[in-house]
Amino acid sequence: MRRRKKAKPHIEVTCSYCGLKTETFVATPDHLLFCRHQVVGFPPTRDCMTDYYKERKDVRKKEEQEKGLFNKQEKQLCEEDKEKEKISRAANAAKLDEYLKELKRKKYEKRLSSN
Ligand SMILES: [Zn+2]
Repeated sequence: MRRRKKAKPHIEVTCSYCGLKTETFVATPDHLLFCRHQVVGFPPTRDCMTDYYKERKDVRKKEEQEKGLFNKQEKQLCEEDKEKEKISRAANAAKLDEYLKELKRKKYEKRLSSN
């Protein structure tokens, strides 16, 4: 049978979320401390870690939404550019077409005159 862990020494930490001092806390891998007041078998009466991450997630979601909006604007701009490019390309193509026709005509005329 495993021996029970010794009780933690009496320490107080400051919660990274609410800023209150607490003796019952949880630590995260990124060295943040949060108060967690929970009686085993009951939902926690205070769980700052969950609140903290929930809040962060909400912030991230908001940021992503804003980013998404930005991307959309960027995409729209891109499409405008593409449209412009298409038009200029079409203009160039028309010019090229004209030029090729002219070239052909000249060749044809040259052939006619040489015959
Ligand atoms: Zn707290």
